[in-house]
Amino acid sequence: MDAGAPAAASGTGIQISGVSKSFALRGGKQLLALQDTDLHTDKGSFLALLGPSGCGKSTILRILAALDHPSSGTALVDGDTPDQLRAKSELGIAFQDHALLPWRSIRKNIELPFEVAGRKVDKEYVDELIELVGLGDFANAKPAQLSGGMRQRASIARALVLKPSVLLLDEPFGALDDMTRQNLNLELLRIWTEKPATTLLVTHGISEAIFLADRVAVMAPRPGRVKEVIEIDLPRPRTPEMMRTPEFHALVDRASELLFGGGGHDAAET
Ligand code: ADP
Ligand code: MG
Repeated sequence: MDAGAPAAASGTGIQISGVSKSFALRGGKQLLALQDTDLHTDKGSFLALLGPSGCGKSTILRILAALDHPSSGTALVDGDTPDQLRAKSELGIAFQDHALLPWRSIRKNIELPFEVAGRKVDKEYVDELIELVGLGDFANAKPAQLSGGMRQRASIARALVLKPSVLLLDEPFGALDDMTRQNLNLELLRIWTEKPATTLLVTHGISEAIFLADRVAVMAPRPGRVKEVIEIDLPRPRTPEMMRTPEFHALVDRASELLFGGGGHDAAET
């Protein structure tokens, strides 16, 4: 599919149109982190971003989360500007840098979005999520007492706790071992299937991207841009067995080719 083709006439979902972002460097130089980027998805669909480091993946997420603004072009999510979206508490974010508050317990960190939104804490759902991410024994611990992977799991729980309609996940599984990662992928799928959020996931895992997403956008660096968007036409519900089908392997090969050019894809997985 052509990366620029709008997915839906409705204008919902992620609608990034002609977005460029340059950063001023020392000495008056400009770095073009994103050049004329288009990305379009439908409401409630799952988009994964793949690409080498420095190609602008986090910049796209930061723009959608209103943590940064484009130099030119427009970004809308489900019809809202990023600033509007953030004001509505409909946004769940988990970034690589977990950003847990060090003085609050894990439970209190996961409850934080309720407080920020001025809503009553849903204790039952907080408990459920804490169990789900395997932190039952650590609910009252402080972030510093946990491993990196555990802190990441806490930040994923925090991103999900308001059952947001938009999810922005920037390599949230990066520091996790394969087993935990696979389990959280399956849980993320389950939660997403229950209430399909408009989701953008940045990942280094080609298989993970294809397993989870409706579309996978492959990006290229210098300047950062979308190279191609691959439609993932695997049926849902997705099951781990699907990862062993020829269709799945063909999609992995396609993504690897776009990322690394011809040749093997052994280096693709992290
Ligand atoms: P990715 O997430 O794909 O690794 P980023 O979006 O973080 O890439 O960065 C894209 C490019 O923009 C990189 O070259 C990075 O160094 C640069 N960049 C990102 N943020 C800033 C900033 N605040 N100031 C200067 N350069 C930046
Ligand atoms: Mg990044």
